[in-house]
Amino acid sequence: MSWTPEKIELLTSLWNQGWTTARIGEELGVGKNAVVGKAHRLGLPKRPSPIQRRAEEAEQKKAPAPKQQTKGISIFDLGPGMCRWPFGDPGDDDFHFCGKKIVPSKPYCDEHCAQAYLNGKNPREDNPPAQQGGAGGKGPQAANKK
Ligand SMILES: [Zn+2]
Repeated sequence: MSWTPEKIELLTSLWNQGWTTARIGEELGVGKNAVVGKAHRLGLPKRPSPIQRRAEEAEQKKAPAPKQQTKGISIFDLGPGMCRWPFGDPGDDDFHFCGKKIVPSKPYCDEHCAQAYLNGKNPREDNPPAQQGGAGGKGPQAANKK
């Protein structure tokens, strides 16, 4: 077979796109060896082998999903300055503590302080003093002042 300028162009383009030599050969209707030989004669840059590429890609895919580091803090790992917020039941295998840096003078981290106050809020404190009313809008002072 002869290498027409179009085929050479296609070869170069596919080569640069990282196609495998076998795949390029299929596309051009030539053998893999012809592709390799021609690429060599054209002085095309060597590419990482497909296996290597795949390994690199796998590496990159792994990176963005790191495991949660906070998981696995046991009561023994818990030191001063670490959030004591518990996860799960104390009897469970995966029971653990938050372990993040605490807010100074609080037993929990930022996030769990907020959660603790939300859950542990005394409902009575929530009620406005208006409940003791009966004064009809006037304060107790006004009532006493007769
Ligand atoms: Zn926490």
